[in-house]
Amino acid sequence: MTGFLAVKLTPQTGVSEAGGRLGRMHIVSLAGGIGGARFLRGLRATAPDAQITVIGNTGDDITLFGLRVCPDLDTVMYTLGHGIDEEQGWGRAKESHVVKEELAAYGVEPQWFGLGDRDFATHIVRSQMLEAGYPLSQITRALCVRWQPGVRLLPMSDDRCETHVVISDEQGRRAIHFQEWWVRLRASVPAESIALVGVDTARPAPGVLEAIEEADVVILPPSNPVVSIGTILQVPGIRDALLPKTVVGVSPIVGGAPVRGMADACLTAIGVETTAQAVLDLYGADLIDGWLVAPEDEGVALDGVRVVAGPIIMHDVDAAADIARTALDLAQELAR
Ligand code: GDP
Ligand code: CA
Repeated sequence: MTGFLAVKLTPQTGVSEAGGRLGRMHIVSLAGGIGGARFLRGLRATAPDAQITVIGNTGDDITLFGLRVCPDLDTVMYTLGHGIDEEQGWGRAKESHVVKEELAAYGVEPQWFGLGDRDFATHIVRSQMLEAGYPLSQITRALCVRWQPGVRLLPMSDDRCETHVVISDEQGRRAIHFQEWWVRLRASVPAESIALVGVDTARPAPGVLEAIEEADVVILPPSNPVVSIGTILQVPGIRDALLPKTVVGVSPIVGGAPVRGMADACLTAIGVETTAQAVLDLYGADLIDGWLVAPEDEGVALDGVRVVAGPIIMHDVDAAADIARTALDLAQELAR
């Protein structure tokens, strides 16, 4: 523990203090898990000299087996740190599942959440540091010393707030943790409502509002508009801080369906259609200045927003970099 704590104050290479240097562009990005992480990999590739601050979603966080798990922060960290399971999009590459099997042999629940052995180590370190009194933002920074993501990764808040979903099933009407709805039920039971428990008293993590304030541009990756970006925007102060900024977003919806995953189930729960237009309307023209949509969605329009149609499918890192470049160029143009 001591050795680990000793390295935690070492700045991450290429970010940290040097970021304030004159002439270096500062980009702020909000991110959930897979969509956010893949976009950020492209953003980093297309803007290698920029300082990139990522405000990560922690609404998906959950305590399992006594360990604090932060799926979205870890997906960003592993993806940018070359440790991700590429095919799956989350979790560690070259993973094994001995601990999970052993827990199952004891009959310990839950068994529906997949945690690999390598991933367990991350959660052990995080939980140990939380127990020692460190805030999540400092712990994330310490974990990133190993992964060197090339961005400054900040949790949206050090305060615990978790997304819960109200469902009705044979056990009646009740609220369950987002992960239970998403992973165990695969969002097959309709969500009656989605609530971010604890957000009323949550504060943005140290550095979040300062980063937004200093940002030259803000880019919203194609992350889940309800339970990733929507969650971050609910933390008191964050949306207001973003309003005066030039914000360009990439639609996570193409031709009336999510590119990947089940974002439609979340949108339906809050009464929003699964279209690039409806997501733009949800974010609003007060927040968004530029909006990238797929060619089939070129009719999308909103007063005060520049809508640009083009390829927005992240087939690989190069494709993600091209999309990020388009978003960045548009943001810089609109910021002038
Ligand atoms: P999660 O936390 O792992 O669910 O990931 P995010 O919240 O970051 O992103 C999920 C969203 O990314 C989904 O709504 C997808 O539709 C969207 N997405 C995934 N891959 C792509 C892609 O290649 N292009 C676009 N435009 N959206 C994508
Ligand atoms: Ca997530």
